[in-house]
Amino acid sequence: MKKIYITKDIKNYEKGLKILEKIKNYNIVSSEEEFINIIKKKNLTYEEEKKYSLFTVKKGKFLKKYYLDKQLEGIKEEYYLSYENNCPFNCLYCYLRDYFNHGAFVFYVNITDMFYELDNFKKKNIMISCGIMNDSLVMDNLTNITSDLIKYFSKRKDLILEIRTKSNNINNLLKYPAKENILISFTFSPDTIIDKYELKTNNLKERVEAAKKLQSHGYNIGLRFDPIINIKNRTNEYTKMIDYIFNNLNTTRIKDIGIGTLRYKKGLRQKVLAEKNTDLFYNEFIIGIDGKERYFKKIRIDSYKEIISQIKKYGNFDIYLGMEPKYIWDEVF
Ligand code: SF4
Repeated sequence: MKKIYITKDIKNYEKGLKILEKIKNYNIVSSEEEFINIIKKKNLTYEEEKKYSLFTVKKGKFLKKYYLDKQLEGIKEEYYLSYENNCPFNCLYCYLRDYFNHGAFVFYVNITDMFYELDNFKKKNIMISCGIMNDSLVMDNLTNITSDLIKYFSKRKDLILEIRTKSNNINNLLKYPAKENILISFTFSPDTIIDKYELKTNNLKERVEAAKKLQSHGYNIGLRFDPIINIKNRTNEYTKMIDYIFNNLNTTRIKDIGIGTLRYKKGLRQKVLAEKNTDLFYNEFIIGIDGKERYFKKIRIDSYKEIISQIKKYGNFDIYLGMEPKYIWDEVF
């Protein structure tokens, strides 16, 4: 993070003051809108925009319901927390490229408002995810947000917190006793995919080592193989990855496994291709009922079946598909 901006009102919040102790050089803006205008006027690439960050106060809600098209089958991540937008990693398929109109990192310091919202959330046994609008761990040394989340959810045993990441920055997580209702989910991909499409993220070995340490500490781990990308040697690459993961992790501490294939809106493809010379989209795609482009049905079904049959060699796990209609579930399971 090179260019840091703040709005003055962060000084009214404990989290804002703590962050200010760590960042010495910053610019002041009056609002998030002004910050975005400043970036946009610079005509930067998406990657360059990622070097900018803003610490400010959120006006809207933190707790949001996951959008799922009615014709797609239920997913576990029903709600998510949006205390942070974007991340310094640079996954080419990241839907946030299209969701926000800039790539800068934004953190909202008024987390007391977020916990107030959660206090008033009365549903039970619901999974609340972090890592839908961000990567939950990559900025944690600065924001220390996972400490706040763990302290809160340790007392909210009626809810499940999912901390989702591609980072091995687990220092904070190891400071607290593991809790049954706090799940740390890692997105795993073969290194060929990480090198080409998940730029700046931790490699497979680093993610697995982090997951292993967390399991030894007592945490349950979620495995996310999403998005599967239809690369040359797909079967071989994913088989090797599954073997590596399951030979290294404690299978009794794997809570669940989510699998999905590459999907994106047309706007995302256009934005990525305008800046990157990538073969990510070299395939035949169809448009799904949610308007997103996806691989043809056969490629998706074959990918799921291959991965699931490999996983089953290591035991029976709670496996679900991400954003797929019922007929795909029926064919796969
Ligand atoms: S880690 Fe997640 S939030 Fe960050 S660029 Fe990759 S997909 Fe996007």
